[in-house]
Amino acid sequence: MAPMNTTPAFAAFDPTSPLRAFSLERRDPGPTDVEIDILFCGVCHSDLHTVKSEWAGTTYPCVPGHEIVGRVTRVGAEVKGFTRGGLAGVGCMVDSCRTCPACRSGLEQYCDNDAVTWTYNSQDRHGPGPVSYGGYSTRIVVDQSFCLHLPLKLELATAAPLLCAGITTYSPLRHWGAAPGKKVGIVGLGGLGHMAVKLSHALGAHTVLFTTSAAKAADATRLGADEVVVSRDGNQMAKHATSFDLILSTVSASHDLEAYTRLLGREGALVIVGAPQHPHTASRFGTLITKRRSIAGSLIGGIRETQEMLDFCAEHGIGSDIEVIPIQYINEAYQRMLKSDVRYRFVIDLATMP
Ligand code: NAP
Ligand code: ZN
Ligand code: ZN
Repeated sequence: MAPMNTTPAFAAFDPTSPLRAFSLERRDPGPTDVEIDILFCGVCHSDLHTVKSEWAGTTYPCVPGHEIVGRVTRVGAEVKGFTRGGLAGVGCMVDSCRTCPACRSGLEQYCDNDAVTWTYNSQDRHGPGPVSYGGYSTRIVVDQSFCLHLPLKLELATAAPLLCAGITTYSPLRHWGAAPGKKVGIVGLGGLGHMAVKLSHALGAHTVLFTTSAAKAADATRLGADEVVVSRDGNQMAKHATSFDLILSTVSASHDLEAYTRLLGREGALVIVGAPQHPHTASRFGTLITKRRSIAGSLIGGIRETQEMLDFCAEHGIGSDIEVIPIQYINEAYQRMLKSDVRYRFVIDLATMP
């Protein structure tokens, strides 16, 4: 049997009990692997959906975490560009088929063979398994093709959330053309939403934040929103009718899509990145066909685009607004996340792992 690295972690053991200490095995680095001592890991709402098995199919024990930054401790003989003592990042994927058209064009997240190995709770052909384990742990071993370079200008803890919240919002903003002269709406000011506001602003779009939390308005403006709309206020919503090129919904619960599709201008797109447990209420066909509007979805971003996003953030001085927490605080952090009380991303300091 191959030698293995025993690694302390925090895991969920069922959908409802608090996370607690767990010990897992990492493989020894193979020729193309990078071994990373994890320093910080962001807390994504997807971690919580998975822990609670809201998307079904969670294998327990489950070690979440896919916003990983750390220091390289060992590299395989064929590794290029990552060296011991340097920094590396890992996002939502650790492998894919690498041969299909999607993978070959840098869109691994849309792998045509549905063969993505997600960073946690995923079948892992590299073992030791039974599933992949994420960043609520002190060490990870990942193939170099799925490791990201962290520009030195980025502050480490604030860079961690870029690996999911950053790329998940950057990719659709770029794909649907957020740029000067465009009006972009962001729905929800949580982890993804606050990155979306910063990135949309940096891309030069007129950026409008929709929130259910009026108390977040001042923060939204500071983060780069040109306007803030309290979405529960029908009058405020009506003022923006038929005016947006793009609206990005980062909401973690199901909500009324019609309220947003009617704010789209001709050929505008409502793009869903939030992934709630229950379906959204559909929009009326009349609202869609009369202005050739569309509703679309988007999933994280490929490795190449993730690197582009990290470089963009370094160039523009963009990091996440974070609250650094010890691993022991994770269950309270989840409770606060459920109350939309995240300002604006929890980041675990792995030095606190017992
Ligand atoms: P988060 O930090 O909890 O933020 C979600 C925000 O949505 C909240 O802060 C709140 O903003 C708003 N919200 C929550 N419940 C709401 C409700 N019932 N009605 C209206 N608004 C509500 O979560 P996150 O980490 O940003 O993740 C957001 C969603 O994206 C999750 O479902 C996650 O799984 C998903 N996700 C998808 C991808 C992808 O690739 N597509 C990647 C990562 C995450 P306000 O207080 O401003 O209203
Ligand atoms: Zn995530
Ligand atoms: Zn593929």
